[in-house]
Amino acid sequence: RMASPALLMRVVASAYSVAEKAATIVRNVMSAGDLGIVEKAGPNDLQTKADRLAQMSICASLARKFPKVTIIGEEDLPTDDVTEELIEDGHCEEILKKPCPAQYTGIKEEELVIWVDPLDGTKEYTEGLLDHVTVLIGIAYGGKAIAGVINQPYYNYQAGAGAVLGRTIWGVLGIGAFGFQLTEAPAGKHIIVTTRSHSSTLVNECISAINPDTVIRVGGAGNKVIQLIEGKASAYIFASPGCKKWDTCAPEAILHAVGGKITDIRGNSFQYNKEVKHMNSAGVLATLRNYDYYASRIPNAVKESLVP
Ligand code: AMP
Ligand code: MG
Ligand code: MG
Repeated sequence: RMASPALLMRVVASAYSVAEKAATIVRNVMSAGDLGIVEKAGPNDLQTKADRLAQMSICASLARKFPKVTIIGEEDLPTDDVTEELIEDGHCEEILKKPCPAQYTGIKEEELVIWVDPLDGTKEYTEGLLDHVTVLIGIAYGGKAIAGVINQPYYNYQAGAGAVLGRTIWGVLGIGAFGFQLTEAPAGKHIIVTTRSHSSTLVNECISAINPDTVIRVGGAGNKVIQLIEGKASAYIFASPGCKKWDTCAPEAILHAVGGKITDIRGNSFQYNKEVKHMNSAGVLATLRNYDYYASRIPNAVKESLVP
């Protein structure tokens, strides 16, 4: 009889299906037309009915299967009384077939922390920039992001009828990342991807200091890391607080699984243990290749104005 798959692989396989269910919720709320927008900290910090329902679905579904895992979601919501129709029970069989890396085979439920951003890019979602939106489920062990799922509910939405809408990217350190075509950014060009709705003087000063060939302004941390692994941009640079642990955990695991690197603007790695502060106060610097070049171009004055 085959040994049952390692816990980590079962969690990733379930997170894959749970993220697909959340993506369906995100699409259904938009097509129903009532977004139920609530301002959190202000007009650039929004929550919609899709953020709420997707989070309840993700957190309740994972908690039911893995009751001892710590799950931290972006939205401040009750976790009880989730209706049965929001529960996803499935998993991705293909993920279960992959062997778990040896260093993760002994992981116990109580040692995992799952960081959930049910809808990354909410501002853009409310503005109809639908392909900026992602669902992020990041899995941390020993304070490190080791696995992640990024679902892009509206991938291909401009490709017209016949194209498959939406996709799921997943990755585990030591296995790799799947669901997309890993592509290098054009050699010798400095293409920066950054925020479109949370800019500041410092954000723009930092980008100018790189002297980029192109600046791409799009929403979502998940979306920006996708731009890196698909060769659309050479560095994701955000010299500001605002991004949180649930924004970076899943993208970090996937980026690191393919040999990229993400840190804060000062070069410090992110920690994902359950006690950690949620805010990435010192911003984000991420690349698939040439991390050291971009790190070397960040002005000291910018680093000094961002306190971790
Ligand atoms: P962006 O690149 O602006 O889409 O930001 C990436 C992630 O960080 C999104 O989840 C944003 O909501 C969040 N974020 C960044 N800056 C801020 C901010 N100033 N206030 C609230 N959320 C922010
Ligand atoms: Mg987010
Ligand atoms: Mg969100």
